[in-house]
Amino acid sequence: MINPNDPTLKSWIAVDKDSDFPIQNLPFGIFKREGKLPRAGIAIGDYVVDLAEAALTGYFRELHVNLQIFEHNHLNPVIGMGKEKCRMLRQIISELLRHDNPELRDRPDIQKRVIHHRSSVEMLLPVRIGDYTDFYSSIDHATNIGKMLRDPDNALLPNWKHLPVAYHGRASSICVSGHNFHRPKGQMKPPDADQPVFGPTKALDFELETAFIIGTPTQMGDSVTTSAADQFIFGMVLFNDWSARDIQAWEYVPLGPFLAKNFASTISPWIITLDALEPFRVEGYTQSPAVLPYLHYTGNRNLDIQLEVIIQPEKGEPTCVTRSNYRYMYWTMEQQLAHHTVNGCNIQVGDMMASGTISGPTPESFGSMMELTWRGSKPLKLKDGSERKYIDNGDTVIIRGHAEKNGVRIGFGECKATVLPAKN
Ligand code: MN
Repeated sequence: MINPNDPTLKSWIAVDKDSDFPIQNLPFGIFKREGKLPRAGIAIGDYVVDLAEAALTGYFRELHVNLQIFEHNHLNPVIGMGKEKCRMLRQIISELLRHDNPELRDRPDIQKRVIHHRSSVEMLLPVRIGDYTDFYSSIDHATNIGKMLRDPDNALLPNWKHLPVAYHGRASSICVSGHNFHRPKGQMKPPDADQPVFGPTKALDFELETAFIIGTPTQMGDSVTTSAADQFIFGMVLFNDWSARDIQAWEYVPLGPFLAKNFASTISPWIITLDALEPFRVEGYTQSPAVLPYLHYTGNRNLDIQLEVIIQPEKGEPTCVTRSNYRYMYWTMEQQLAHHTVNGCNIQVGDMMASGTISGPTPESFGSMMELTWRGSKPLKLKDGSERKYIDNGDTVIIRGHAEKNGVRIGFGECKATVLPAKN
């Protein structure tokens, strides 16, 4: 068996060297062609492999699964096959696409059904997300927010280095990249006012995040250990946790985020498997004080994933406003999942757990406008000459991410959405 991550692998499908989707990636998504029903696919270069058609062609016989799982409008039944079968599926596709395998390469008649150009398909939300949790695991982000909103000398709250802080968010307003939304309205209390006011948010922000998707369920009462956590994680996406800072500042005490967050969130359409990301493991943050035993982990568990955010004004040129990296996370995914389940909380296939805003240590690497403009006190200048404290109507915010090593680039595609004016 070949290793699907092997950097020397090449496909008979031409893949641009800057593509996010070389043969070593093979991420999973749900796509729709005009006039057809949604189905599961795997991306390669500018193309998508139609898994439902590949199944009908007989390529997946050795999986011994009901082949209708590829004809749903979400990946839950595919991911629900379990990690081993998903791994086999990625392996089968990798072999089918290898430059020296004639099986599909030399069959243009079958290719017509199984391979579609990505420009001819619409990407849908990849999973039906049952539950969504957002962590708060970047130490630079938590420190920046603590400095701005609380005490510059004691920015981190006493629990922060002992547990990965999180809140439960709203799953049903998570949309796939390209789905635009209206500026949220709400209640806020300007600093100089003595009564709250109502209106469209004046401080709409992005949060640069990633999220992981659960691939294996647990029963209530069960806990996932840090060493077993990878077996429960299918893969990762980019995530924008849109936030209305003025609404948030007024509502968040004592129970945390609510209407400042639940109006919309955006994820990228392709789920990058944890397997494809394995070559990019790096050492984690040095955690001090030492964590409780259930949060211990060994080995290199962080990931070197370069992340960036671009603001594209309605009529201006795009500007990259920040460059960060997933490796700045203080808490690893394994620790987040161990903590999430330590009380016996069950998890289900398709549950999504987001990283929290990923800020780096320098001002150019902060993961939100609130940090980049230091709560609006230092507006950002965009390439078209305009300034931003927060996000304007008509702005498109695009998150991109990729890992790169040994000439292989494992990318995430795009996570983007445009802010429309508030509804009347
Ligand atoms: Mn967040």
